[in-house]
Amino acid sequence: MSASLRPSGKPGRDCPRCPRLVAFRQLWRKQEPDWFNAPVPSFGPIDARLLIVGLAPGLRGANRTGRPFTGDYAGDLLYATVKEFGFAQGDYQAHPDDRFALIDCRITNAVRCVPPENKPTPEEIKTCRQFLNATMAEMPNLRAIVTLGRIAHETFIAARGVKRRDYPFGHGREHAMGELTLFASYHCSRYNTSTGVLTPEMFRAVFAKVRNFLNAA
Ligand code: URA
Repeated sequence: MSASLRPSGKPGRDCPRCPRLVAFRQLWRKQEPDWFNAPVPSFGPIDARLLIVGLAPGLRGANRTGRPFTGDYAGDLLYATVKEFGFAQGDYQAHPDDRFALIDCRITNAVRCVPPENKPTPEEIKTCRQFLNATMAEMPNLRAIVTLGRIAHETFIAARGVKRRDYPFGHGREHAMGELTLFASYHCSRYNTSTGVLTPEMFRAVFAKVRNFLNAA
């Protein structure tokens, strides 16, 4: 079996599972051969207690740099906030070589490849879920999850194999799920922040709760 078809673990650079995303990746590899243009791996230490789940790489951000949220508008608020709550050190400079490092925190995406128009299809979300499962399975100390937006939230719920109606999405909602606690947040996207759906204070409130939770754990 080729590395790209491994049944679990990490998607290979040429993961063939989602034909629409493969075609988009090939287009951008031709157009921008110096960009990363491949499934974006999780960022942060495997022994972290916190996992943040985003949606999917942005075309000119994570898809270009190869690190989640790096170079994406959403990364500015996300990385400033995680640093403020002690989950990172260094200066985030929107570049994978900026030596910015996560502490007790890891960041991944529900969908690893950049989708056209930032919109993965339900089928693509479902197909990529195996990699979220594998990411969680390899984290021995995992205690807290922050889901950014409804899609990340519902993908996580599906990955845990529990019922959606028992764990409804809502900004600031917290759900105890056995050994894990889920903290739901609106996505820190340009749209949400520029329309005021999500303010920096609302976002900080989520991470303040996570910090208190982990400090008490
Ligand atoms: N960049 C990412 O890596 N993930 C998102 O959800 C948004 C931007």
